[in-house]
Amino acid sequence: MHLNYSRKFSFAIPALVASTFISGLFTVHCAAQSTLATHSLRTTGTLFQYSTLPALSLGIYDGNLTFDELLKRGDFGLGTFNALDGELVILEGKAWRVRSDGKVSRVDGNAKTPFAAVVKFAPDHITRVWQNTEYSALRKQLAPMLPSPNLPYAIAIRGTFARIKVRSVPAQTKPYRPLAEVVKSQSVFEWRNLRGTLVGFRFPSYLSGVNLADFHFHFISDDRARGGHLLDCTLKRGQLEVQSLRGFDMVLPEIKEFDAADLSGDHEADLKKAETGK
Ligand code: ZN
Repeated sequence: MHLNYSRKFSFAIPALVASTFISGLFTVHCAAQSTLATHSLRTTGTLFQYSTLPALSLGIYDGNLTFDELLKRGDFGLGTFNALDGELVILEGKAWRVRSDGKVSRVDGNAKTPFAAVVKFAPDHITRVWQNTEYSALRKQLAPMLPSPNLPYAIAIRGTFARIKVRSVPAQTKPYRPLAEVVKSQSVFEWRNLRGTLVGFRFPSYLSGVNLADFHFHFISDDRARGGHLLDCTLKRGQLEVQSLRGFDMVLPEIKEFDAADLSGDHEADLKKAETGK
């Protein structure tokens, strides 16, 4: 489909803080400005999202946005495929599919997605990690790089993983079951000493109606042979890269299942169960 702007929502989150920029590995925070800078639209990170994660979790597994269209809106992100046929990782402008048999392949531009979130990735904060750090500790180490609870952030974690555990989901046939049911038959893969990148986001709690109000990462190895939705990891050494996002464009699928779904109420508990695989 071509993007239909009658179904598009956009908002910009006000920039009230002084700019942050990178000089090599040193991050410099400018002194607070005495007057507010003018907010120029599109100069800061804008997330593009197709459909909503609660809609996906209810079993809306078909969409009508092609990857050719999606990749115009970002070079970094995650999502899935029609019929829930694998985990999507987008890195450096290329889209990869990790099927439930663990095989990784390049995504055809004509393939379609029922859910994806992408950004043109340009980190404004980078920190090195020098020693074995478990996922729970990585989340703590990321915390000062994500200073506002009110902003979405795009996050890359690159390096050598002492251990990484991911999952993928099997393609579904209609009638579709909810995601929390499907993940009971997920394939789990675990590797040691693997170089790669975690591609993901952290969303603020007030966006829990459209995405996961938590960290969400998909992994792809440097050799593009292994990947999946992150369940757990230990980073041996590498770096954390963060981009704060102040724009959010969302397009909703033109399919009758989306229009008819009950998206009211709180889907957060089911979504967290599906995404953590527990
Ligand atoms: Zn995922």
